Amino acid sequence: MQYYNSKTLLYLDGEIVKSEDAKTDLYSQSLHYGYAAFEGIRAYNTHNGTRIFKAKAHYQRLKKSCELVHIPFNWDINDLIHQTYKVLELNNFKDAYIRPLVYCHANMSLTEPSNVSIMICAWDWAAYLGDKLVRVCISNYQRPNPKSTPIQAKVSGHYVNSILATTEAKARGYDEAVLLDQGNFIAEAPGANLFLEKNGKLYTPELGNILPGITRATLLVLCKKLDIECIETQLTVTDLKQADSAFLCGTAAEIIGMKSVDETVFPLKWSESIGATLQRAYKCLVLEKTNYEVFI
Ligand code: PMP
Repeated sequence: MQYYNSKTLLYLDGEIVKSEDAKTDLYSQSLHYGYAAFEGIRAYNTHNGTRIFKAKAHYQRLKKSCELVHIPFNWDINDLIHQTYKVLELNNFKDAYIRPLVYCHANMSLTEPSNVSIMICAWDWAAYLGDKLVRVCISNYQRPNPKSTPIQAKVSGHYVNSILATTEAKARGYDEAVLLDQGNFIAEAPGANLFLEKNGKLYTPELGNILPGITRATLLVLCKKLDIECIETQLTVTDLKQADSAFLCGTAAEIIGMKSVDETVFPLKWSESIGATLQRAYKCLVLEKTNYEVFI
């Protein structure tokens, strides 16, 4: 995957610069210790023009992530949103994935940084057409314990755990992993939250041991609008394996139905699941079409 070419521009500390000219310091505390915070945001080519979905919520989470790990965050969120639109416009991106990153300057000690940078880059992200269902496995890796790191922060270092889980799942012949928390309850996928359907109701792991996904929060609001009952609670592997249907959700993944977990195949046809209804409603929302269907 080529993320940039000789013409691509990004935002770095108040300036628009060429991606190929933007360099970082090899003595960066972020590089050595995974001590940085980032976001993953989508822009959609809508009938109202290119629109960044939930821009404010993402930048607020970036600020919160920084605060939780004591990385200074002194930028104005509205200005960052403005700069993000500028990056999209200058690169002529319409459907795009946006990656803001706050990273620390040279510092080899294990102390709070005094000098930090923010960069915002983006790349083309073609509209996802497929509706392939994913085969997931229960990972042998656990999500990091919230007593060892603020797991609700989107911190770079946490993604070593995600990379290990995805790599292991693929090596075992699955598409994706589902990780448990320190209490052996279902937590989330390496880069997405999880919902399951049972007897006409949805269930999703409660907050505490997961990244509070913006897609997850959006779906909870959509559920209220569509009169779908959704319960935030602790879920076991048995709950997942006995579910009628299940799906993963996240900014990049949007909503992806799950075919199976380990060797257990979900019995409900995806097209008849609540997940499929939410998938359509979510698409309408991100594209700023207001014709939600009524769920009876
Ligand atoms: N969990 C993890 C670990 C993630 O990396 C992501 C992607 N940011 C999510 C859940 C989903 O979050 P969001 O809906 O905000 O993209």
